[in-house]
Amino acid sequence: MPRMLPDGRRLGAHLPLAGGMVRAVNRAAEIGADAIQVFADNPTAWRRRETPPSEQPAFRARLADLGIGPVAIHAAYLVNLAGPDEGFFGRSVDVLSSDLRAAPGFRARFVNVHIGSHRGSGVTAGTQRLADGLALTLAEVDGGPDAALVVMENSAGSGFGLGVDIVELAGIMDAAVARGVSADRLGFCLDTAHAWAAGIDISEPAAIDEFIDEFETRIGLEKLVMIHLNDSKSERGSHLDRHEHLGAGQIGAVGLGHLLRHPALAHATFYLETPGMDEGYDAVNVARAHAIAAGARLDDLPPEAFELRSDRSRTGPGA
Ligand SMILES: [Zn+2]
Ligand SMILES: [Zn+2]
Repeated sequence: MPRMLPDGRRLGAHLPLAGGMVRAVNRAAEIGADAIQVFADNPTAWRRRETPPSEQPAFRARLADLGIGPVAIHAAYLVNLAGPDEGFFGRSVDVLSSDLRAAPGFRARFVNVHIGSHRGSGVTAGTQRLADGLALTLAEVDGGPDAALVVMENSAGSGFGLGVDIVELAGIMDAAVARGVSADRLGFCLDTAHAWAAGIDISEPAAIDEFIDEFETRIGLEKLVMIHLNDSKSERGSHLDRHEHLGAGQIGAVGLGHLLRHPALAHATFYLETPGMDEGYDAVNVARAHAIAAGARLDDLPPEAFELRSDRSRTGPGA
């Protein structure tokens, strides 16, 4: 299978750091990934480590040696800057700014964060709250040349999730800029499984083209810096976020292949968040991405492949 994607675009995977940080970089190279996404700390806890992991300098050196990047840090799942609860909002600002301050130590260009939920307070209120949260967060973080972008990920739309379509994503960018946030510090991530769950027909080239055109018109495609390339176990529009192996789910190889080859997306880095990263399916899905991009036939997966988890909850770095 060809090891290069069209137009030199880069493909990474979310890999666990718990088994060793250098080992994770070696694994990325071994499976043919160009880039890597990681958790900087426990993704399901508010508590952040006080000192960087001891392996961090070796991690940075190995990334440079093997030419692996860009690195994305996936922020804690708990972060919600769009909700009305004051205590939750304050903790979200703290933990997101902590992940952003940690980013240069990981050589990370992106800190990817879920846009969050307005919790029933409405899209307008949620968007304003998020803009306030971004302003407060970024005021806590040095914006120098090594600073990571805050990369906001589209929502599957369950539980009052904000950022389900271009109108809401554009509204978020406009509100943040109006609040005084520099657009240079912000970007977006398109999670294909979330878009599908939110009702966007990412299985259809024509619908993808329409989405991309609208993104360019309302936001600017240079702001679409990350793509979470996932297939989905769920029905379109179901609001259920359940990732599947590439080409083996409801989205399928036609839509995913259109994204992987789309000339307007060559600048974006694609990251897999597919099931079974700890069980060898990291390599399987990188190979499937290359096959899909090349329009090649995909191998059938064994039944046990469909029982694997994709929640990636055990994968922060050790000491
Ligand atoms: Zn995602
Ligand atoms: Zn997801």
